[in-house]
Amino acid sequence: MDLMNVLTRLVSAFGPSGAEKEISQVIEELARPYVDEISRDTLGSLICRRKGNGPKVMFSAHMDSIGLVATHIDEKGFVHVGALGGVGAQAVLYTPVRFQNDTRGLICRDNRAELDKLKVTDLRVDIGAAGGEAAKKLVQVGDPAVYDASTYLAGDRVVSPYLDDRIACLVLLMAMEQLEETDNDLYFVFSVQEEVGTRGAKTAAWAIDPDYGIAVDVTGVDDEPGSRHTASALCGKGAAVKVMDRSLISSPALVEQLMALAAEKGIPAQRDVLQLGGTDAGPMQATRGGVTAGGISIPCRYIHTPTEMADLDDVRACADLMRAFAASKLKK
Ligand SMILES: [Zn+2]
Repeated sequence: MDLMNVLTRLVSAFGPSGAEKEISQVIEELARPYVDEISRDTLGSLICRRKGNGPKVMFSAHMDSIGLVATHIDEKGFVHVGALGGVGAQAVLYTPVRFQNDTRGLICRDNRAELDKLKVTDLRVDIGAAGGEAAKKLVQVGDPAVYDASTYLAGDRVVSPYLDDRIACLVLLMAMEQLEETDNDLYFVFSVQEEVGTRGAKTAAWAIDPDYGIAVDVTGVDDEPGSRHTASALCGKGAAVKVMDRSLISSPALVEQLMALAAEKGIPAQRDVLQLGGTDAGPMQATRGGVTAGGISIPCRYIHTPTEMADLDDVRACADLMRAFAASKLKK
């Protein structure tokens, strides 16, 4: 698999929370050769299954992205916005954006707002319209917009607006491409609406009723300038095995199992404690009577900015660990 090529396809597909149709079609096309069944649930999560008679393992990577949503169009033609997911106003200022109908623009601000207290409600999208009437022909209230930044390599690290979580969608596809023979009943879920409260994984986990749940997502790092240990993972040090985040404390036996598997197969891995942010692992663990759950994460710098960064060796390590777990002997 040409990683950069597939990643660029995944990142360029439109798919903010609640509007994941385009990205789900792209993933369906990429996943079809590797699985027995593909279905969608009512919310829109894409569920790819490799059938087996053994324990059910659900891997979940969310396919939705953060973005902005139009809340008001003023008489000058500026689009006022709200946040779809965790958007930091300062981090996105003067970022190019696009709406689903390909209307392009950029994020500017109400210049009366103080920069150090900037809120998303102070942001405007300038779509180049001459006035309110012209703008309303292009954008209506409720339309979501996504960052329109590019994907490129800086050394061995990839920079892109939506590594969160398209890089994990790539990890699932990489693992699916080279699955080993196994009795395990494997579900690869590309969930919707994670960024607004892990909603897609909640319904998918209830419907699948898995024995094991593994979220594949990005995780924060402790190696940005001035990092203060709110995250433990380091870029380039391998797959991050989730011990906890704000949505769950992983099943301890599963953490040990994943670390042991990594050691046995020579896959670089590190223990991951993330104090800010949750993942699909939370709703997977808490469904029905409770599920053995944890996560495999890609260390990522500058999460939720239009220029997130991850190391390609870590991406490969995550795919290898996921593949090894998918084929491992598991108890029901
Ligand atoms: Zn994410």
